Amino acid sequence: MLSQLYYISKREESGDLLSDLSQILTSAIRFNQTQHICGVLYYANNCFFQCLEGEKEVIAQLFERIQQDPRHKELRVISTKEIFEVNFSQWSMKYVQKNKTIDLFFKKCGFDSFQPHLLTEADTNALLSCLISAENTSLNQKKASNESNHTKGYKRGYMNYIA
Ligand code: FAD
Repeated sequence: MLSQLYYISKREESGDLLSDLSQILTSAIRFNQTQHICGVLYYANNCFFQCLEGEKEVIAQLFERIQQDPRHKELRVISTKEIFEVNFSQWSMKYVQKNKTIDLFFKKCGFDSFQPHLLTEADTNALLSCLISAENTSLNQKKASNESNHTKGYKRGYMNYIA
């Protein structure tokens, strides 16, 4: 059975943002690919919004790990449901950078900035639709080269997938 889970969380600000994002995306893309998991990650205003799609058991096991991750906190599941087809089949983890479309979406919902924890469930579904049509964005290549040795080994695959 296929399931979709999406949640919001706040970034734990102790680490370097770009390095954290690079490492998260690298391990997400690598692991999700092997498990036929797909989804999207959006980060803005110190908040993560992530949608995970795949086999129910596999998503549940991954989510157990994600919940324990010290790079974020105050995690809140917005929705978890059965789906009949995935929305993000092209991406083991699509990454969408802060952009005007999403900013405008939040303005229309009455917020000055990206505040996913304040959206209604209907608005959160609409946000997901925006992320489905948004461009898959690339982190700055020069800055990404600052990532730690842990990530360097996977850099080529990482750049291929988010470019
Ligand atoms: P190990 O690599 O063995 O690490 C052990 C522990 O350290 C884990 O709790 C891990 O979370 C934590 N950890 C790992 N790297 C760091 C670091 N650089 N700094 C601080 N703590 C660290 N993983 C996926 O596979 N797919 C995803 O879609 C995915 N999405 C994520 C989204 C967000 C917002 C975040 C914060 C993390 C995401 N991760 C994802 C990463 C996931 O939380 C785990 O780190 C990863 O699955 C490796 O788990 P592990 O138990 O094998 O960890």
